[in-house]
Amino acid sequence: MSVGKGLIFLGPPGSRKGTQAQKLSKELTIPHISTGEMLREAIRNQTPLGQKAQAYVDLGELVPDELLLGLIEERLKQDDAKNGWILDGFPRNVPQAEFLAKLLQKLATFSQQAINLDVPDDVIIKRLLLRGRKDDNEDTIRRRLEVYREKTQPVLDYYSRQEKLSSINGDRQPEEVTKDLKAVVG
Ligand code: ADP
Repeated sequence: MSVGKGLIFLGPPGSRKGTQAQKLSKELTIPHISTGEMLREAIRNQTPLGQKAQAYVDLGELVPDELLLGLIEERLKQDDAKNGWILDGFPRNVPQAEFLAKLLQKLATFSQQAINLDVPDDVIIKRLLLRGRKDDNEDTIRRRLEVYREKTQPVLDYYSRQEKLSSINGDRQPEEVTKDLKAVVG
């Protein structure tokens, strides 16, 4: 069985990992799977998941794992994901990373590679205030950064220990970042 490329994009809010993921997804013709986007769509459509998730997203808190894990499993089993995918915004904590590892073992077709887009806090805050999404107000931004440090930083350590993590300086022109990303992804 061939081994598809499973790319995991990590990086704080405002690291522009979504933009980079989208670009790379087109070039590699593998789907870009953003849990933030999936949640925002569920909220827009007021689905049962959206209704449960809304308060967490508005406050910058992580949506509980049990709401998301099934969703990710279903998405990764879809036909368009069989040759690879880029995950953006997942995993966001160590239990999610462990769930993903188990799932991929079960599917037995993917190599995992995690990429961290590194951007200093002051740059992040400036970028997010300019972006102006509903959850891009100052309080929520501050909380999302805290949550990132508390919950997602350990995910970087998790992949680093397994020698599956590359870090890229995200505080540069987008084209420069893309160039490095492509080199790392190979
Ligand atoms: P950002 O990286 O800019 O914070 P995202 O679009 O990735 O934006 O996520 C927006 C919000 O969606 C998060 O603040 C969180 O509430 C929720 N969310 C996204 N992905 C996850 C996840 N894997 N686990 C829990 N909550 C998530």
